[in-house]
Amino acid sequence: MAEVDAVVVGAGPNGLVAAITLARAGVSVRVYEAAAEVGGGATTREVTLPGFRHDVCSAVHPLGVGSPALTAMPLQRYGLAWVQPPLPLAHPFPDGSAAVLARSPEETAASLDGDGRRYHRVIRPFLGRWHDLAEDVLRAPIASWPRHPALLARFGTRAAAPAALLARLFRGERARGLLAGLAAHAVAPLGSPGTGGVALLLALAAHEVGWPFPHGGAQTLSHALAAYLRHLGGHIETGHPVARLDDLPPARVYLLDVMPERLADLAEGRLPRRYAERLRRYRHGPGAFKIDYALSAPVPWTAEPCTVAGTVHLGPSFAEIDTALRSACRGDAPAVPFLIVSQPSLFDPSRAPGDAQVLWVYGHVPNGWRGDLTAQIERQIERFAPGFRDLVLDRGTAGPAQIAARNPNNAGGDITGGACDRLRLLFRPTASRVPYATPDPGVYLCSSATPPGPGVHGMCGYHAARLAARRVFGPA
Ligand SMILES: Cc1cc2nc3c(=O)[nH]c(=O)nc-3n(C[C@H](O)[C@H](O)[C@H](O)COP(=O)(O)OP(=O)(O)OC[C@H]3O[C@@H](n4cnc5c(N)ncnc54)[C@H](O)[C@@H]3O)c2cc1C
Repeated sequence: MAEVDAVVVGAGPNGLVAAITLARAGVSVRVYEAAAEVGGGATTREVTLPGFRHDVCSAVHPLGVGSPALTAMPLQRYGLAWVQPPLPLAHPFPDGSAAVLARSPEETAASLDGDGRRYHRVIRPFLGRWHDLAEDVLRAPIASWPRHPALLARFGTRAAAPAALLARLFRGERARGLLAGLAAHAVAPLGSPGTGGVALLLALAAHEVGWPFPHGGAQTLSHALAAYLRHLGGHIETGHPVARLDDLPPARVYLLDVMPERLADLAEGRLPRRYAERLRRYRHGPGAFKIDYALSAPVPWTAEPCTVAGTVHLGPSFAEIDTALRSACRGDAPAVPFLIVSQPSLFDPSRAPGDAQVLWVYGHVPNGWRGDLTAQIERQIERFAPGFRDLVLDRGTAGPAQIAARNPNNAGGDITGGACDRLRLLFRPTASRVPYATPDPGVYLCSSATPPGPGVHGMCGYHAARLAARRVFGPA
């Protein structure tokens, strides 16, 4: 007799959602997490000074608030409250102006000068359809017939395009820069297929569900997931790194919230040699260099919209952003990095004492890069917020090595669970109709190295667990 029906390795968002999905299907489940705390890429800690609560990894959660899996759970009952900044995103320019991605498509269009109408034309077919689209987009692309085929086909024609091609729809640098910044979340060159889809999805999310922070930080979401899982009868053991599946209690199924190369190690002897070799050759994307700041006051942005935006993208033009991404992908540190900046304490006073602020910033660097990007990052922030450096009380820097040391899933500092160029976002870890399954019928992969890829949405865990539940335990 199995001691438990199912074991999940890793309590990141996908591992926790996988465990919850199984527990809701009546399956007994136990989660083993290497770290002392649940959450993986959704954790919050006092990285700098006491009272300054920094998001170690994820900060902004459009795919979380809009996730079909998460929205079907009563997480509010377990402490989750979303904080919506007045403006999801500002994209400043050196002349002191900014393009904005607002909740309202009209306000967004108005900030794009002559491209406003063109922006509206691109986004309009999908307005009001987030939930339908999310169901079909946030899953393995060829797993089953889509629920809304016409909508998906319409989205797919635009989404499959590289951001570079989508940008040709616009004439001015305001819309092209905004689009490039959104596409850069895929951490792939802007000429890569599918990067246009990332931009389009994130823009639509801003209008439909917002780009919120969990009140208290990303950890609140992880704690809510863990509390809900315990309520359903699931057990979680933290501080328990797993080296081999054979070291775990017997179970009918194992779901692994790990990278493919780790799956090959954990399941050594259970997988065919050629499949394991393919997993070991899995390609990772560039790394990130992240700085968490404790500031004495809000950032003195020149462009007014930045002062009310949850997220700010720094790298004004399409060309500048593309150059920064290309350098990181090619193996060179960018001279002028493209930065994603999040300023949660402006809207959530629980994150920092008094008027002080936490600031979350990262830029892209080559995978495994060992240098220090602090000077380039601060030069780039000063360009749009002169006087910024005078506000710094403390900073916590993390390059690829530190990011990987905190969580083995971020191999070489890769924050996207694998390279996202050449449609690798859709077809991961291998091109398969059911990418969650392995040749061992009792072993499944449920991390962001499966579709729909990176982000705190739990959809990889949800789909892997549904498949495992159906195949191993039969129809509910
Ligand atoms: C710097 C950074 C910034 C990010 N910003 C955002 C953002 O703003 N918004 C967003 O949506 N996403 C963001 N992400 C991405 C997001 O955090 C990840 O895509 C997401 O956390 C992936 O979830 P996961 O469950 O697949 O893996 P993870 O969150 O990585 O969780 C995996 C868990 O498994 C555990 N584990 C691994 N191996 C073992 C083992 N052998 N034994 C036991 N436990 C193990 C790890 O300790 C970890 O807790 C960011 C990531 C980083 C690193």
